[in-house]
Amino acid sequence: MERRLIVQKYGGTSVGNVDKIINVAKRIVSYKKKGYEIVVVVSALGDTTDELLSLASGITRTPSERELDMLISTGEQVSVALLAMAVHKLGVEAISFTGAQVGIVTDSSHTRARIIGVNARKIREQLKRGKVVIVAGFQGANVDQEITTLGRGGSDLTAVALAKVLNARMCEIYTDVDGIYTADPRIVKNARKLDRISYEEMLELASLGAQVLQTRSVEVASKFNIPLHVRSSFSNKVGTLITKEVKAMEDVLVSGVTLNKEEAKVTVCDVPDRPGAAARIFGEIAKQNINIDMIIQNVSRTGSTDVSFTVMASDLDKTLKLMKKVVKAIGAKGVTFDKGIAKVSVVGIGMRSHSGVAAKMFKVLAERKINIEMISTSEIKISCVVRKGKGEEAVKVLHKTFGFGR
Ligand code: ADP
Ligand code: ASP
Ligand code: MG
Repeated sequence: MERRLIVQKYGGTSVGNVDKIINVAKRIVSYKKKGYEIVVVVSALGDTTDELLSLASGITRTPSERELDMLISTGEQVSVALLAMAVHKLGVEAISFTGAQVGIVTDSSHTRARIIGVNARKIREQLKRGKVVIVAGFQGANVDQEITTLGRGGSDLTAVALAKVLNARMCEIYTDVDGIYTADPRIVKNARKLDRISYEEMLELASLGAQVLQTRSVEVASKFNIPLHVRSSFSNKVGTLITKEVKAMEDVLVSGVTLNKEEAKVTVCDVPDRPGAAARIFGEIAKQNINIDMIIQNVSRTGSTDVSFTVMASDLDKTLKLMKKVVKAIGAKGVTFDKGIAKVSVVGIGMRSHSGVAAKMFKVLAERKINIEMISTSEIKISCVVRKGKGEEAVKVLHKTFGFGR
């Protein structure tokens, strides 16, 4: 028998104030009345998470990550309770839970914890009683009951994980745009909405800066083949369906352009040209669970060379502290950083069978006098690091070049 269970996730932009919360409650109730079992995942109201983080940074630049999780997990607890009250007011039974309460068990890497398992017994019990179950996104607890969070945008991951465990027929992601666009509609006014996109392309778009879905949530959806429907909480329009097979996309060369302004470049200067230097640099970083994006190492002509790489700007302080130790250990000269970078990328499965995308990308950037500082490619994407101030211009011109626009 086909399950009538849907997981719906509402982002912070969809619950920014009381009126929006009531709007979300009405949508939930309308689905409930159609006979669906509903599990709802909610993010913190509006910019709450950023505001909590800035409170912490007013106290210290290097807060304890355990305490950070204690702090930022509170945002979601506020929204689940308010949303449950709003659903009650419409005469429907609902109950809110924190991540820990519904058995979302994670590892212990605070602020970026991974989900180990979900014990959904409590959710199933409440569904059986006919209730709408409302779960705080972005959080869980480790085996010692310590509260953890799942990385920025982590409510998407909560929703996908619950959809998997509960065997939901669909995971709907409600946000402030109508779906996935060919570029961030805030930057490119004539960006086009995609009706469908493959997991693979969505994964690249997300990891390259399209914040609309958290990268890890797309990874999990893809792994378990959970269909995602990204749509607006302010309209009833059909959004973008993210699935495995996307036949209509086959003729399209590039499916999207992204911008990421949240990275910083770190350069380890005059690294001696001997085996083990890179292993030491990146080994230390990996031990701290810091994600590296691009890496550049030039040929050494004088017995040493610079090694540059990019990390999330939020990991910069931690990375520099580590590199100061490593520099001494490997006999390099020093470490510098640059926060003024942006990464622009073009993504598309069509690139597999077409050449010339990179050449075209470099040419239009050159015509605009936008200097390329780093390049990286994969089978289905090309990324360039440029000055931060040029990032939006680069996205606009690339969007135009690759023939999107309405
Ligand atoms: P939520 O609060 O719902 O989680 P987010 O702010 O995390 O919302 O993500 C939605 C935002 O993602 C949109 O407002 C949009 O500006 C941005 N965005 C960036 N790239 C894209 C894209 N390619 N398609 C759609 N939205 C995008
Ligand atoms: N509130 C968290 C954040 O801002 C999680 C989320 O919105 O998905 O990152
Ligand atoms: Mg989000």
